[in-house]
Amino acid sequence: MFNHRPKILILGLILAALLGLWRVSCKPDTQLEWDNEPYISLYLHEKDKIVRLKFEEYLMGAVSAEMPASFAMEALKAQAVCARTYAVKKLIEQRSYPQQADLSDDIKVCQAYISPADFRRANPQHYQDLSARIKQAVDETRGEIMLCGGEPIDALYHSTCGGQTEDAGEVWLQDLPYLNSVKCKYCAGSKHYSTVQVFSVQQIEADVGVDYDENLEIKVLKTTASGRIKELSINNLILSGEEFRRKLNLPSNWLQFKKDQEKIIIKSRGYGHGVGMCQYGANGMAKEKADYHEILRHFYGDIQFNKMSYDVLE
Ligand SMILES: [Zn+2]
Repeated sequence: MFNHRPKILILGLILAALLGLWRVSCKPDTQLEWDNEPYISLYLHEKDKIVRLKFEEYLMGAVSAEMPASFAMEALKAQAVCARTYAVKKLIEQRSYPQQADLSDDIKVCQAYISPADFRRANPQHYQDLSARIKQAVDETRGEIMLCGGEPIDALYHSTCGGQTEDAGEVWLQDLPYLNSVKCKYCAGSKHYSTVQVFSVQQIEADVGVDYDENLEIKVLKTTASGRIKELSINNLILSGEEFRRKLNLPSNWLQFKKDQEKIIIKSRGYGHGVGMCQYGANGMAKEKADYHEILRHFYGDIQFNKMSYDVLE
């Protein structure tokens, strides 16, 4: 007898995948534990030297550098879990940084860090309040990281998504079950939500590196599912949306173009690569009473939270 069940199952899976309902899960649920909170060596790239810090102390500097300390507490806690997860992953992978450091404060290869002294100089009036808020966010999530399949996730984050985050696969050609595009209505209040910049034709041609031609022609060739530019052409030169963004120093690659005589008006949505947690979105969710677990689940999906109960270092 003809069995049509597998066919229905396959059709169901295809339909679910098209609707974005079926995704690779982060199971199995396993735990990661450290007996002691480690000391880490951090490479300070501008000073070209290393400092030794307790891990959670390092995290206070990372959270202070990566998110405004005035953001809502649950957003700061979400940021603390992201920064911790990001750093634990780097420590486990034993990335090599200059002078054999465990981590670096160079955002091109790791995450940012600001020392307590520099943070005080940057916030002379509200230093006590702001550093107390950062300490609270780090202390109340102490040891907590996000796992997928027993491994710390690649906890990427960015300033402002502009309405929808991006699939990792669209940016780095590697799909990860926890870095899928999700809608985000929570960053609409961000100052980076929408940016308008005016360029001359000559400036764009010079920055991108094409020969001068007064008839500048920009064609969008491919967009990602969220609407960001994957590939475009400037006259006859083809480049990725990310390359174009870097060359013109645009806030994102979610762009609209308008030509007005000799000027090109570029409207960008959001700020950053758009993958993972939207920080302004996290703040928006926190203001609507979401807790940090809800915020992280919104942006990273079906991840597991893992609390390492390491001892306090004396
Ligand atoms: Zn957002």
